[in-house]
Amino acid sequence: MINVDPREIEKFSQLAHRWWDPGAEFKPLHEINPLRLDYIDGIFGLKGKTVLDVGCGGGILAESMAARGARVLGIDLAEESLKVAQLHLLESGKQVDYRLVSAEELARELPQHFDAITCMEMLEHVPNPGAIVEACATLIKPGGHVFFATINRNPKSYLLAVIGAEYVLRLLPRGTHDYARFIKPSELGALARRAGMDVGHVTGMSYHPFTGVFSLGQDTDVNYIMHCTLP
Ligand code: SAH
Repeated sequence: MINVDPREIEKFSQLAHRWWDPGAEFKPLHEINPLRLDYIDGIFGLKGKTVLDVGCGGGILAESMAARGARVLGIDLAEESLKVAQLHLLESGKQVDYRLVSAEELARELPQHFDAITCMEMLEHVPNPGAIVEACATLIKPGGHVFFATINRNPKSYLLAVIGAEYVLRLLPRGTHDYARFIKPSELGALARRAGMDVGHVTGMSYHPFTGVFSLGQDTDVNYIMHCTLP
């Protein structure tokens, strides 16, 4: 059985033409991008590295990593998004490879291939996040770095990530997130360890509704990034 929710792919395909409009539905991703880019670059140094971006969408993170000198492959299962990502390269002049392939399938083709893997804001959209985590553990080289960003599951994350972001502030379209698919850091940590990875730092990503500014910090109650390594 393929580990994908067709409704999720349809949702992202419908919005695909909006990926590079920084004021539209994907505005929060454009705003957090410099923060997460600096964070991962600071940990392992992107320059000259071979990086896989799982669930790359329109390529917001993938392009920015390429701009820092990484060789990037972006994969997604929404064909429309990949077309937009590919087209945007003409405008930006960046070099990124994009492929319509699942992480699990790529893991059979390229085991222990990548220096680093980013899988951001994607696990909360798949039926079986554990299988993606496992595929990442297969795709990464020993000693490599894997970054998962997703949403914690608790009353505060329901209030802020669903009610606040989708209904009150309207940062995201309604129905973007399904609370039941949110993942606690302890659960993600367990999946990573089961796949043979070590869990390093967990960093919070917070949105300040009054200033409209995102920041990284200690508060992992809602959005967070988990850094894992393969021994
Ligand atoms: N990682 C990007 C985009 C996040 S949006 C960023 O942070 O900027 C979530 C993405 O996950 C969408 O592009 C969606 O098409 C993709 N996605 C959802 N299910 C997927 C699956 N099973 N395999 C690969 N990509 C998937």
